[in-house]
Amino acid sequence: MNRTDFPILKETVHKRPLVYLDNAATSQKPQAVIDAIAEAYSHWNSNIHRGVHHLSQVATMKHEEARKAVADFIGAKSSDEIIFTKGTTDSLNALAFSFGEACIREGDEIIVSAVEHHSNIVPWQMLCERKKAVLRHIPLRDDQTLDIEAFKGLLGEKTKLVSVAHVSNVLGIINPVEEIVRIAHSHGVPVCIDGAQSVPHMPVDVQALDCDFLAFSGHKMYGPTGIGVLYGKREWLEQLPPHEGGGEMINHVRWTGTTYNDLPYKFEAGTPNFVGSYALHKAVEYMQSIGWEAIETHEREVTDYCEQQLAAIEGVHVYAAGQPKAGVISFNVFTNHQSPITNHPSLQGGNGGRLLLHPFDIGTLLDQQGVAVRTGHHCAEPLIDELGVPGTVRVSFGLYNDKSDVDAFIAALKKAIMMLS
Ligand code: PMP
Repeated sequence: MNRTDFPILKETVHKRPLVYLDNAATSQKPQAVIDAIAEAYSHWNSNIHRGVHHLSQVATMKHEEARKAVADFIGAKSSDEIIFTKGTTDSLNALAFSFGEACIREGDEIIVSAVEHHSNIVPWQMLCERKKAVLRHIPLRDDQTLDIEAFKGLLGEKTKLVSVAHVSNVLGIINPVEEIVRIAHSHGVPVCIDGAQSVPHMPVDVQALDCDFLAFSGHKMYGPTGIGVLYGKREWLEQLPPHEGGGEMINHVRWTGTTYNDLPYKFEAGTPNFVGSYALHKAVEYMQSIGWEAIETHEREVTDYCEQQLAAIEGVHVYAAGQPKAGVISFNVFTNHQSPITNHPSLQGGNGGRLLLHPFDIGTLLDQQGVAVRTGHHCAEPLIDELGVPGTVRVSFGLYNDKSDVDAFIAALKKAIMMLS
């Protein structure tokens, strides 16, 4: 993988070369994506769709070409099924509102899973509160995989939607979404997949998966912030109402009422992020130029190598150990000693009565050595509660990370553990 395509990787942090292992939070950007943003504002910035003038037509064409590229990237039947949003959170909120208005009544049930990010919990909780509906979740088995038998038991006549993460942003586990879709569909229940952590790491084909909705973010797949996607099957999007009102989403507005635009514009009120969609298109092209086989093989090698190195360190507990992971590993460190920095009752117990070194302390000491990781609850508090810890340390990989990053991280981690124990 060509690290030199990513200018930020040449930066130093605390006078150390940057080792960036926080890709599940956001990925770094290749020069092609950075250049695309400058190109758009330097050469053809102009509001799209409504203009007859040249620049507006160029901007419109770029935005619609991006929509087509994204549709092809995820195997959608048509670019009409691609709604540009601000990101995964925005996509899931849009769906929760729109689907909720059309399809949820008092007593209805929605199913998520135990590993969800708050973005795939809170919008459904808000909907359930509004509609007096019920939110259920698929529990975990002891090995931290989803309990599919329990899922079958949750499905019933009242179930109206299942919404699950493809890849857990904490555990890195790849959920069996194909099986979940098949089971839900056999009950006539549609499925939304939160693809925030899968779309950057593996080919996701919405027709092969047969999912009804898919949400993901541009910034986690080497694209810019502020752009994301909600995919929906045409037959669903046609029957769902818009979640926001304003320009672009209308056909005609009269004092007597408004008629709505065709797909996908019905769901894109206001000036869209056409510079973001153009840069996202460049990110998609960048990933395609490397190819899925190379990306997947490389990331699997680096992730497996890191998990092996971690497992060999005394006191390190890797969550979902041994399960195939998509570029994300969470762990904690347990010792016989009290951390000299953080001493909190929540750190007692667990792991045979040993003490937990606080993830925040480890993260801070890693940062001082130039290694960027994430610590805490990772916006998945229900899962972290279930793990019985105040948080984890999470390392997450992008296509530009290699074994030398893992080696630098492991050396820094050993030093941090020595300092804290
Ligand atoms: N779902 C998952 C699984 C995630 O990992 C994230 C980002 N951490 C989100 C949703 C939210 O994504 P965004 O902040 O880009 O809306």
